Amino acid sequence: MARIALINQKGGVGKTTTTFNLGAALARRGFRVLLVDLDPQAHLTYHAGIAAHELELTLLDVLTGEATLSEVVCLRNEQLHLVPSNLGLSRAQKVLTEPGSEFLLREALEGHDGYDFVLMDCPPQLGILSINALVAARHVLVPVYPEFLSLAGLSQLLQTVEIVTRRLNPRLELMGVLITNFDQRKNLHHEAAGSLRERFPEWVFQTVIRTNVALAEAPSYGQSIFEYAPTSLGAQDYEALAGELLLRLQSREVRHDPKPLGTPSGRQSP
Ligand code: ADP
Ligand code: MG
Repeated sequence: MARIALINQKGGVGKTTTTFNLGAALARRGFRVLLVDLDPQAHLTYHAGIAAHELELTLLDVLTGEATLSEVVCLRNEQLHLVPSNLGLSRAQKVLTEPGSEFLLREALEGHDGYDFVLMDCPPQLGILSINALVAARHVLVPVYPEFLSLAGLSQLLQTVEIVTRRLNPRLELMGVLITNFDQRKNLHHEAAGSLRERFPEWVFQTVIRTNVALAEAPSYGQSIFEYAPTSLGAQDYEALAGELLLRLQSREVRHDPKPLGTPSGRQSP
């Protein structure tokens, strides 16, 4: 099972768009995918077509021990499941104060080994919820918007990842930095992308998610880009990202573990 935290303390950089559409791309390939919405704004939950404000049970109930993961999970389809959130999750910072609260999500995921991928969509702060994701994860994927101010926050984020690795989760690894919302007509975007690749040559994904209005429209229909606009640039880019991610994971598994990444556990989607 690959557990990936999608994190960046900046808002509007494509974390939620990437979590949902990368999850959908992997599910289409036949993998069983669990999405976890760690943001009280619940954009991921709404993107999945679920009325977050009407939910009685959310991730918060799982973290406080009032519900099990299975009681809270919503099934988008056979391959794609979601642990939803809503505004109530904003209480997390206040209520998750017991020693070891950083480990609650990891504990909740224990025993749910039927998933090939767990993708965790973090809120735009490095608080207790993001730390829970980093502790539960094995890999970190950082979406970035290609502008210099966005790049400035990256060092702080990588420092936090390093601290979590040192103190709480020694197996945590950076999986890659993903350039999102890339507008090919803007020189500024080419320059920022170039300087990112210079600074993190190994880490920046070859795949770039281009600016594509269909990606911004799909959430209002509760659809993935593959349902809403299957031939769009957005669909092509997220499909390419899923392919590159699988290759990266395979090369890492070979390095760390003699067993190669398994084949999908579920049936191939039509
Ligand atoms: P985050 O989760 O990091 O706050 P989102 O994924 O919600 O960021 O994206 C912020 C906004 O930008 C949303 O309105 C989303 O629909 C839009 N968006 C994200 N990626 C793209 C893209 N590649 N092209 C066009 N709009 C995008
Ligand atoms: Mg978001």
